[in-house]
Amino acid sequence: MKYISTRGAAPELEFEDVLLAGLARDGGLYVPAELPSFSAEEIESWRELPYSKLAFHIIKPFVGGAIDDDALARMLDETYAGFGHRAVAPLAQLDHNEYVLELFQGPTLAFKDFALQLLGRLLDHVLTKRNERAVIIGATSGDTGSAAIEGCRHSNHIDIFIMHPHNRVSEVQRRQMTTVLEDNVYNLAVEGNFDDCQSMLKQCFADQSFLRGERRLVAVNSINWARIMAQIVYYFYAALNLGAPQREMAFSVPTGNFGDIFAGYLARKMGLPVSQLVVATNQNDILHRTISQNRYEKHPLAHTLSPSMDIVVSSNFERLLFDAHDRDGAVLADLMNKMSTETVELDPQRMASVRELFDSYAVDDDTTCQTIRAIYDDTGYLLDPHTAIGVKAARETRRSMQCPMITLGTAHPVKFSDAVEKAGLKTPDLPHHLTDLMDREERFDVLQNDLNALQTYVSEKVFG
Ligand SMILES: *Cc1c(COP(=O)(O)O)cnc(C)c1O
Repeated sequence: MKYISTRGAAPELEFEDVLLAGLARDGGLYVPAELPSFSAEEIESWRELPYSKLAFHIIKPFVGGAIDDDALARMLDETYAGFGHRAVAPLAQLDHNEYVLELFQGPTLAFKDFALQLLGRLLDHVLTKRNERAVIIGATSGDTGSAAIEGCRHSNHIDIFIMHPHNRVSEVQRRQMTTVLEDNVYNLAVEGNFDDCQSMLKQCFADQSFLRGERRLVAVNSINWARIMAQIVYYFYAALNLGAPQREMAFSVPTGNFGDIFAGYLARKMGLPVSQLVVATNQNDILHRTISQNRYEKHPLAHTLSPSMDIVVSSNFERLLFDAHDRDGAVLADLMNKMSTETVELDPQRMASVRELFDSYAVDDDTTCQTIRAIYDDTGYLLDPHTAIGVKAARETRRSMQCPMITLGTAHPVKFSDAVEKAGLKTPDLPHHLTDLMDREERFDVLQNDLNALQTYVSEKVFG
């Protein structure tokens, strides 16, 4: 399998290199040159498979022989054996034909474990084979950091540095990162906000001389192709459980960087009968404004009760735009340049084709809390604020009551007690494997908001 850049001017890569690459050299994102596609009979034949075996069939074509089948199957078994529910991605039912796909049964209680548990193992496998060591530097507003650390803590080939904004992530989120005490894990509380962390991260990737050419710098944010790839699987899993491929399915996806929902779009292109995808956003609604009004315009960041969806621009949207522009990299490079500096209206016909599949809806904090409350009162089921936005958006935009509507449950409510309490409800207990989280020893260093301080820190730790 070959991978190409959305901006058409970077070298084609094979799977292993795409795994280790961040942004393409031309500033674009890597996508498969051709998608695998499955017949209805083939999809049907997977109905009885447990999650990790289904994952093997879906992921194998993307890996394209770079990892042998036995090793890939073993990694997938190990990855999903670590989840807290035997079904890995169980469905909860809220109403007739209305479901939540619980993607928060992994070690850090958010859907990011699905991809990052696998990514850690894939990286370790490839680095071992090449006898290389890598440095991961990441920035997190909460969920990505803990999932990435959990995914890499056991690797002998990776040093992982995760920046979080000092005193600006919840205590559960911080402790999920800082109580991991392995020698290759470094938590940095940066005296700044999430944007500051992200901007230092970008600069580290732009000029890697602080690693003296001796270590490869790897990205674990959602532009990493392998993360998207792993997320395709649960669309198939949920749909098969509810009667696909004989039946169409709709999905509502709480969306920030458009990674998770892009995986649903790919599932459809690979043969899954998906009739509708709902882009559910919070007040940071650039995607909703783009899809509903065809106006792509950056607004300042708003801090909401669903912080994992607090974004100004949505990086993976570029991958959809690439397809919507007939995969013309030169056209897309121009468009993305324009979009970085000005308000853009997309070609109306291309937008119309996007809208054939996608709907969108934005939910403010008050409505988020009301939704948490209303669903709890009706069903006894407690939603986290991100998932609540998904459920609300699904109800507002649903095209058919005959077709099952599945909202992706992106996080466990215990991670977001602010919203749960604002909804007038009690935060649930931590799940079994985390009951002692609040008593565990923490380790992190506070770092100035300064690129030089970061790079000095990293190189001292890596090179000793
Ligand atoms: C990361 C995250 C999202 C947004 O996912 P994207 O792939 O960026 O769209 C939504 N909900 C939760 C809980 C998350 O952690």
